Amino acid sequence: MSKQLADNQDLLAMTHVGEDPEKYMKSVTPPIFMNSLHVFDTVKDYFDVDIFKDEFYYGRASNPTVAILEKKIAALEHGSRAVVFSAGMAACAAAILKICTAGSHVICIKESYGPVQHLLDEFLSPKYDVAVTYVDGRTVKEFEDAIRPETKMIILESPTTLLFNVVDLEGVAKLAKEHGIKTYIDNTYSTPIFQKPLDMGIDIVMHTMTKYIGGHSDLVGGVLVSKDEEFMREIMVQRDWFGGVLGPMEAWLAIRGLRTLDVRMQRHYETAMEVAKFLEKQPKVKRVFFTGLESHPQYELARKQQKGECGLMSLEIDGTLEETETFVNSLKLFEKGCSWGGFESLAIAYTYNWTEEQCAFLNVSRNIVRIHCGLEGTENLIADLQQALDKIS
Ligand SMILES: *Cc1c(COP(=O)(O)O)cnc(C)c1O
Repeated sequence: MSKQLADNQDLLAMTHVGEDPEKYMKSVTPPIFMNSLHVFDTVKDYFDVDIFKDEFYYGRASNPTVAILEKKIAALEHGSRAVVFSAGMAACAAAILKICTAGSHVICIKESYGPVQHLLDEFLSPKYDVAVTYVDGRTVKEFEDAIRPETKMIILESPTTLLFNVVDLEGVAKLAKEHGIKTYIDNTYSTPIFQKPLDMGIDIVMHTMTKYIGGHSDLVGGVLVSKDEEFMREIMVQRDWFGGVLGPMEAWLAIRGLRTLDVRMQRHYETAMEVAKFLEKQPKVKRVFFTGLESHPQYELARKQQKGECGLMSLEIDGTLEETETFVNSLKLFEKGCSWGGFESLAIAYTYNWTEEQCAFLNVSRNIVRIHCGLEGTENLIADLQQALDKIS
């Protein structure tokens, strides 16, 4: 028997919190409220609506199915309120636009999700004079050295999702508080089950629900959550202005995804551990990047912060670029694609077409392959990796 990873409160949040079958003719699952507006009997009733108290008037501001999902994620992340968006990037952009003003300075880890860096460097920097310092992120000192009087926000991801570096979340949160800087983390790797950054002092957690929360590669969505109720109310109002709300259909799919998140993550975790240990022993594999391995340089910190691992890891092929290409092309069960967090295994030659400059920025070779271990079974996945490695041995 494998040990229970989600705590008892998490399990209730994923299964029942936020739902009320009494309101929906005792239906065991909530309906998809496929409506754009709600109607009222009187002028007064219309103007009395309080969107922060589960009252609804217009679908861009709030929706009953969407609100159920938000209650579940707020409970899972130990936040006061969660607000969901049409994509992970919409959630990320909402947090940055809320916190930063023209001329603000942001500290961001070098290995943050690519589009986040595009948003900072190619949009916020030229249009609003937002300055960015990229840090490797493996020591708190680097963040401390980067702080300026106008620093408003620290953007984190831990572990990161290419090289799987870990940030000392309590250390950075403490430092940021001393300087009045808001901390933000993309917690997608850990899901709300394995790591609770708000409890470590981080201000805002983001997830792309496109990955494990949805879990079936059939929706795009994102969420922000915080312990600061006032901040989250303002985020909800801002979402109404920008219009990036999650649709009710996607919200319903995410609710369904959450019901099995615990069992899926247990299996992804077990499979990834076996796959990582297998890969580590292969002569054509120079290095495996995975925080579940004792050989990971920050293994102790990862164990302190994370209860488990998901199915994502990278490996570096010990060979030529052509061999890396042949290895990936030879995989049969691992489909070639960029996302992760679904039922399916995926592989991508991540740095294959990177420029020297891009490789130097992260200090990596072009032989990095990222894989997602799906739910097809550990033995099937290892057999597929083995036959692909045989092609280059
Ligand atoms: C996919 C991904 C995102 C973006 O999510 P979308 O829902 O596609 O906008 C953000 N962060 C990480 C770590 C991701 O893997």
